[in-house]
Amino acid sequence: MKEKRCILCNKPYNYKYVMFGRGCLDNLYDLLGFSKPPKIIWNKELFLCTKIAWKNHKFFLSKKKKYALAQKYIALNYLKLMNLEFLEDIKEKISKDINSITVFSKNIVETISFTLNEIYKLFNYSQKFNELLKEFKKINWEELDEKLVDNYIKNVSFIFDTTKQTNPISYTVFYSMQYMFWQVVVVGGILTNKKLSSKLLSNSLSIIGQKPKDLIIDDDEITALITKSTVFKEKLNQLIEKYGEGKEEFIIDNKKEDSLVRFESGDLLYALHNATMNVKAKKDKENKWNFDIEINDTYDFTDFKDLKEYADTEKGKIIDIFSTTLNNFGVVSSEYGVIKTFDLKIKFKTKEGEF
Ligand SMILES: [Zn+2]
Repeated sequence: MKEKRCILCNKPYNYKYVMFGRGCLDNLYDLLGFSKPPKIIWNKELFLCTKIAWKNHKFFLSKKKKYALAQKYIALNYLKLMNLEFLEDIKEKISKDINSITVFSKNIVETISFTLNEIYKLFNYSQKFNELLKEFKKINWEELDEKLVDNYIKNVSFIFDTTKQTNPISYTVFYSMQYMFWQVVVVGGILTNKKLSSKLLSNSLSIIGQKPKDLIIDDDEITALITKSTVFKEKLNQLIEKYGEGKEEFIIDNKKEDSLVRFESGDLLYALHNATMNVKAKKDKENKWNFDIEINDTYDFTDFKDLKEYADTEKGKIIDIFSTTLNNFGVVSSEYGVIKTFDLKIKFKTKEGEF
């Protein structure tokens, strides 16, 4: 006799049921909110399938249709319990397939195919992920030591599994978990106090099937961040020395090597990786230099791997996590299309004496 395996948990069982082991069947009654069947019912599996059919206002279905309907309905309920974004489309497809099962339908339509065991495993991943997310939300990111943060982050590494892209349902589940990880843990956690970095990462996280917009940033806080930085000050002073002597104006554009700018630490280092700076400089009546600045970059999260050497050790605590673990996660999320690249431009004016 062929060994029977539960189509939900895949464990072997030797009971009369067609689909489920006794433990799983019991749990399904709870999961679907049905009261336990009376003792007199001999086949509690078929009874469950009939209850599901009735719940969906479907009567007089054949046994085969009832079983097919039950599987789809159970899958739909697991998906609802996952509490993840982007699953709407898949739930709709399953609902459509559920609706198409009627007493008159000839074949069982599958707009989207799956096995219940796949769905069950995805459900368990999502449960584990949601538990971790709850823990993450309790972390005080500023006071935590890096090892602990690193450890927390490593626990979640299972969601960055490149092998889960093959099937549309598991792709969507893993996409959602990664998306939520970057939003909650990185944008809302690790980068909370890094306004520019969190803005850029947040923009690169695209809704499933959508490209991120290019960004033009014209923001006083971000301008202040740049004009206060030593790298920026030194850069402008160098440019004045090199191009400004005896002149009333000068222009530095993308083509000149002088337009490359690399920030030394903190928010700017996390945010801008291979930026170039266009400068239009002009002297005013008081003989002071006035500048129109445009900083351009293509945002690519996975650039972090090159940044380690630039970070000084004191401020480099988090950069370690970025340049190792998070960078690896970023590579996977780029493959999934969760993190995408986009072009950005930061525009502002400043003048001599103001920076
Ligand atoms: Zn089972």
